[in-house]
Amino acid sequence: MNHERSRALYDRALSVMPGGVNSSVRATIPYPVFIERGEGGHVIDADGNRYVDWVMGYGPLLYGHDVPESVTAAIQSAAADGPMYGAPTEVEVEHAEFLARHVPSVEQVRFVNSGTEATVSAVRLARGYTGRDKVVIMQGGYHGAQESTLVEGDADDPSPSTAGVPEEFAKHTLPVPFNDPEAAREVFEEHGEDIAAVLVEPILANMGIVMPVDGYHETLRELCDEHGSLLVFDEVITGFRVGGLSCAQGKFGVTPDVTTFGKIVGGGFPVGAIGGRAEIIESFTPSGDVFQAGTFSGHPVTMAAGKAYLEYAAEHDVYEHVNDLGRRLRKGITEICADQAPSYTVVGTDSLFKTIFTREGPARSDLGECCTAGCRQDPDCPRYEYCPKTGADVARAGTDRWERVFRQEMKERGILLTGNQFESQFVSYAHTDEDVEETLEAYKHAL
Ligand SMILES: *Cc1c(COP(=O)(O)O)cnc(C)c1O
Repeated sequence: MNHERSRALYDRALSVMPGGVNSSVRATIPYPVFIERGEGGHVIDADGNRYVDWVMGYGPLLYGHDVPESVTAAIQSAAADGPMYGAPTEVEVEHAEFLARHVPSVEQVRFVNSGTEATVSAVRLARGYTGRDKVVIMQGGYHGAQESTLVEGDADDPSPSTAGVPEEFAKHTLPVPFNDPEAAREVFEEHGEDIAAVLVEPILANMGIVMPVDGYHETLRELCDEHGSLLVFDEVITGFRVGGLSCAQGKFGVTPDVTTFGKIVGGGFPVGAIGGRAEIIESFTPSGDVFQAGTFSGHPVTMAAGKAYLEYAAEHDVYEHVNDLGRRLRKGITEICADQAPSYTVVGTDSLFKTIFTREGPARSDLGECCTAGCRQDPDCPRYEYCPKTGADVARAGTDRWERVFRQEMKERGILLTGNQFESQFVSYAHTDEDVEETLEAYKHAL
């Protein structure tokens, strides 16, 4: 495979953009492939190479690169009417109504322009609403590029995870391990009265995909209720991908106070949203006193695309299709791993999938009754003890081999995976049986 043009473009990019990219994760090694165009479940790069694309924009592209006719029509019509106004439009009301109708916890919505902006606003909202400063986050959780959550360490000793965040800010953030109810109880025992919110991805989906163990979210729900803190589900990635139109909260049957959305909700355009009970969301200005604003918020083209996107999913077998292909990918990769790399863990649910290069596991002969289509955190599974429960468990896996050897090999075989072991991969409605077969064949060679 020839990558000459991508390499030349990256060389130019390095002169005018830091690291040659506009979002860090895109700077894949040795250099990224520059995309020329998409076609269904495939992308074609600047050198004319075609790949089966499981990156799917890192989540938003539920339909792949060719959107349904109704979505194209909605986008073109909104753009032709004029890009934006700085005044409300009917389509944002309709899109908000759709979210309120389908997502269990949502009565009101504020639309913004990115997932990051949604979590920034949700944290400010929780602090304003409760009059408290501290937020609990999960180690290995991701909530975008924002000050309150770019924090590592533990609740006793939090510190910024990046340059540019003051130590003083990090003190207001309390990181705890995911899937550890005891650690959550302890942090509430010590800081309960100061905790504005617990911010959690229902599934860690930017850290190899880690499913919650039974009862974990219920414990967080109870602790928040007991202490008057808000439970905030960050569904930027899981929203309208896991659990269909009711999102991960519908799948798990746990109702958060506030939910953040992004990715799919904008139909491929920049978007974020904060939803929840009216009484809480109304704390935003102008109805309340928590300042929130944005020139582009509720952008007519984004709203038209997002609304048409979700309406199409409500009327077609979209989730059946993507979830079925997701299951077949996970099952197929599980079988290949059992044969070639029994210590590896296949993870994911619905239309998410990933292979974590965990370093230890039961002997091949003991693999009998494992979860067959991705880790379910089933205590009866012989792998239960070995399957990652926290972000730290994922970080201990063979990250370098994943990124430097395996991903490269897959790429050369025409299969484009996300840039590192931590980012999820996504099935779209445009992917086909052949894409799955071709991908499994490549796994056989590359694993
Ligand atoms: C992608 C993501 C974000 C950040 O969204 P951006 O649109 O990239 O700012 C926040 N939270 C989660 C869970 C995400 O997956």
